[in-house]
Amino acid sequence: MTDIDIHSRYRLSRIINASGTMTTIGASMVVPDAIAAGAAIQRHFVSMNQLQSRASEAIASATGAEAGVVTACSAAGMTLGVAAAMTGSDLAAIERLPDTAGLRNEVVIQAGHCINYGAPVEQAIRIAGAKVVQAGSAALVETYNIEAAITPATAAILHVVSHHTVQEGQTPLADVIAIGKAQGIPVIVDMASEYDLRGPIALGAALAIYSAHKFLGGPTAGIIAGSRELVRACYLQNRGIGRTMKVGKEGVLGTIAALEAWSRRDHAALRAKEDAIVAYWERALANFPGISLSRHADWTGNPVERLKLTVGRGAGLYAWELADRLAACDPAVFVRDDLVEQGAIYLDPCNLRPGEEKTVADAIRATVEAARQNGEGLCESLSDRRKRAIAALQDWPA
Ligand SMILES: *Cc1c(COP(=O)(O)O)cnc(C)c1O
Repeated sequence: MTDIDIHSRYRLSRIINASGTMTTIGASMVVPDAIAAGAAIQRHFVSMNQLQSRASEAIASATGAEAGVVTACSAAGMTLGVAAAMTGSDLAAIERLPDTAGLRNEVVIQAGHCINYGAPVEQAIRIAGAKVVQAGSAALVETYNIEAAITPATAAILHVVSHHTVQEGQTPLADVIAIGKAQGIPVIVDMASEYDLRGPIALGAALAIYSAHKFLGGPTAGIIAGSRELVRACYLQNRGIGRTMKVGKEGVLGTIAALEAWSRRDHAALRAKEDAIVAYWERALANFPGISLSRHADWTGNPVERLKLTVGRGAGLYAWELADRLAACDPAVFVRDDLVEQGAIYLDPCNLRPGEEKTVADAIRATVEAARQNGEGLCESLSDRRKRAIAALQDWPA
């Protein structure tokens, strides 16, 4: 089945992805090795215990951890990691969750880490039966706030590394790990969108969690890396709450193949290709009324630069109107719109196919020019836009 067949046969909008890895539009372009591996295993039987052991080896070699396991996604990885911290390898306790009677069942998280990646991170904790204990306040969490949040019932500290977190006033991972070490409490790190596969384990994190379907270009899956004992306890959750977060053979093998492909990838060449796309946009959108351009380094230090388009009133439409009108084009052009409140959209080069950068630039020019000419911009407030998005959800399936 070709790409064309899928979109027309199932009446799906064609999408050009200049937004990065967004799970709502299918995350990322899966690398050929992961597609081939996932397809090849479909007609075979394997021992899932063995396959996950091989995944453990692949994750260990990619992350420097003792062991690893593949899960349904990062959110599932956090739930299973929290469950593992509470039950260890006690199978009876694993079957009892989310009833945590007799277990340490509190998870400390910095207030500024209580993000929403499509669902609240606190819910990923609570699904395991654990209680969320927030440390500090949204934009200020000192080490003493974390220490004060720890009690004899603390099972783990969950640390989120992401541009979604509050970026100021949080306690850095190294300090959190030092607190965890001093008190004998494992630190679980949500690294879902981060490229740094080795950093958290090298720093002493008990578990580090990644999405296979984001920068790695793997199938929809999650990766947990960590100590042998705690990773085993994560895997054993499949006899309990992990059952509702099942990952299949194609997901596990596809993730192994994606990790292998990542280790062989020419990262410098990829970076140069992405930089060339951003440079093209800088030229194609230069000196355009109402729009100012700047290159923007990744918020958490991932090796990718994006183009920031600050949309002034001279453009004749708000930044969010530009994002929505681009998304209504055919093909739809998706741009990063999570910071439109600041009057800006971002163009991300990571998931474009050859030539699509031109379609993106052309669509932006045409959309802004149309708004300036017909005066049909600057009309929907941001709060109305958000209400409309929620109302549309309540209308699903449509
Ligand atoms: C994407 C993301 C998640 C969710 O990852 P899934 O693998 O899609 O469940 C969790 N945390 C952060 C920081 C993310 O960016």
